[in-house]
Amino acid sequence: MSFALDPEAIAWAAKARAFADEQLMPYEGEAEMNAGRLPPGVAERHERLAVEMGLPRLDAPKAHGGLGLPMLTQVAVYEQLGRVTNALCWCYPEAQAWMFEAFSADQIERYAKPMMTGDCHVCYAITEEDAGSDPSEIATTARRDGEHYVITGEKWHVTSYNLADTVIVQAAIAGGDHDGAHALFFCPAHPEGLSVVRTPQYTHTYNHHHPVLKFDAVRVPVRNRIGKEGDGMGYTHAWFRHERLMIAARCCGAAERLIEEALAFAKARIVSGNPIIAYQLIQAMLADSAMDLHAARLITREAAAAHDRGDDLKVLHARCSLAKLNASEMAFRVADRAVQIFGGRGYMRDNVAERFLREVRVDRIWEGTSEIQRLIIARALERRGLEATIGA
Ligand SMILES: Cc1cc2nc3c(=O)[nH]c(=O)nc-3n(C[C@H](O)[C@H](O)[C@H](O)COP(=O)(O)OP(=O)(O)OC[C@H]3O[C@@H](n4cnc5c(N)ncnc54)[C@H](O)[C@@H]3O)c2cc1C
Repeated sequence: MSFALDPEAIAWAAKARAFADEQLMPYEGEAEMNAGRLPPGVAERHERLAVEMGLPRLDAPKAHGGLGLPMLTQVAVYEQLGRVTNALCWCYPEAQAWMFEAFSADQIERYAKPMMTGDCHVCYAITEEDAGSDPSEIATTARRDGEHYVITGEKWHVTSYNLADTVIVQAAIAGGDHDGAHALFFCPAHPEGLSVVRTPQYTHTYNHHHPVLKFDAVRVPVRNRIGKEGDGMGYTHAWFRHERLMIAARCCGAAERLIEEALAFAKARIVSGNPIIAYQLIQAMLADSAMDLHAARLITREAAAAHDRGDDLKVLHARCSLAKLNASEMAFRVADRAVQIFGGRGYMRDNVAERFLREVRVDRIWEGTSEIQRLIIARALERRGLEATIGA
């Protein structure tokens, strides 16, 4: 078991930290006060800088022009990006390794490669009103009609739809040899028959909205199907694994920033003649937070190292759940303690702890709730045992 960062990972983390600190963080307050929006041109500049750094290509294979970085290096990058609030680090699209196995050669050219250059922005439409934790229950259908599929259904919480040009939608095949099997489809963001039912307000202040979308007999060509009829859940699991690991990394980054800022405040804030860091109840909150972060970071980096070692896919699935469960629960505890250390200031929206307390809450819900992560871990224990699940 080895997960020390090598010099390349350390260099990448330093670059990502500079990008986060110098380019993204200065706009947090403005985003918070303006429904997530940035001044004209700023989001475009952030994306251009991200593309120049290679952030959209970290996971893409070298054979297709990607950087093919080890997962441990990617996690080190995402830890740094996670230090920023208001989702300002979501400023670029990301071509993930699994896409180059799932997509056809034509789809790699039309979608994956443009993602690497910031020219294709994809959102994911899986969840429905009656199918969240269990996506196998989706009611959206795709019925074959000649050289097209006709997609009908309603999708909830479609993150970044307002900024996307393409939707990857999961649907159950209706009719034919694979009736009921799931498949993913590329769908343009604004075709005939696709409409926004509503755009609900959420707890965080992001420029990325999460609308409810209605697909009313939307026609997509057969060449837009990803893989075969029946491949849908497998690819969704590949997406979940990547996202869960990177959520864990971002949660570690959030905790790092929270502890740094709360520590600086505790040293400077004088109450009853002493800096509050002198008070043992404050010390305990900082110590518990440092311990929480240290453990979560080790678990997350070990899960990344397990990818780089080429561990069994099913084991990796559980390991990503473990990392996400632990880190997301940890980040919320750390954010809550940071608010407490800041006192009344911690309840003000221009305070980083206040924003993170709202923002990291959803990490315990999306890409599978904490309860669902526990079920995945428990299933791995039941089927493969403790040692296979977490190592000896
Ligand atoms: C801000 C936001 C953005 C999102 N973005 C996207 C997106 O881009 N694309 C997309 O497709 N989806 C997206 N989602 C959906 C998200 O993945 C789901 O909300 C999540 O998977 C939970 O589903 P649900 O909300 O339907 O909860 P439910 O499945 O209704 O669960 C309700 C509660 O029951 C618990 N529960 C369910 N089953 C079990 C069980 N077997 N045992 C114990 N407890 C259980 C859950 O843990 C939860 O506490 C987003 C959600 C949010 C809030």
